[in-house]
Amino acid sequence: MRYLFIFFLFFSLFSLSNACDETIMIDSVEYSIDDVWCGKLIDTMLIAKYEDLSRISDSLCFKDYRIYIRTDAKIAFTKMAQAALADSVFFTAKSGFRSPSYQKQMIKRRLEEGKTFAEVIRFVAPPGYSGHSTGYSLDIATDSYPFAKSKAYEWLSVHANSFGFFETYPKGNKTLKTWEPWHWEYLGDE
Ligand SMILES: [Zn+2]
Repeated sequence: MRYLFIFFLFFSLFSLSNACDETIMIDSVEYSIDDVWCGKLIDTMLIAKYEDLSRISDSLCFKDYRIYIRTDAKIAFTKMAQAALADSVFFTAKSGFRSPSYQKQMIKRRLEEGKTFAEVIRFVAPPGYSGHSTGYSLDIATDSYPFAKSKAYEWLSVHANSFGFFETYPKGNKTLKTWEPWHWEYLGDE
């Protein structure tokens, strides 16, 4: 009996440390949130509203994308891109504000392609969990690949902080998220 008790104690400790009780609903199917995203649901107060957003000038957007971010972040990004150009470095904004419902559409599309939810959320944040919903996150693109080895990334690594932009998931970060050299967040003077 005592051994059985010890077994249950270990079993429950083990399952407690791994369980995330957060779930999301997509088309009336409930999906469990994995350890990478667990506890990172964005407070709805922090989600940008349309009146908080400004459109980045077309010349600084990837292809014909229309990209919106918070107005203060847009002003800082414009200054940063101009400073880079003065150093002969060119990059564009590839993704800015994404609403939780847009995030849900992105996931739905990938589920329809036959991917599992676990596979999808390795690269796309679950709706409500993406930093892009705050309006302060920006994915940056350039014309050379991979981004981590580009002149743009090298320039950003040196100068972006002075414009208020910081890498959210730097190399070797402790968040369980892999390195995303193109994903930057505007924190201002913080
Ligand atoms: Zn991103």
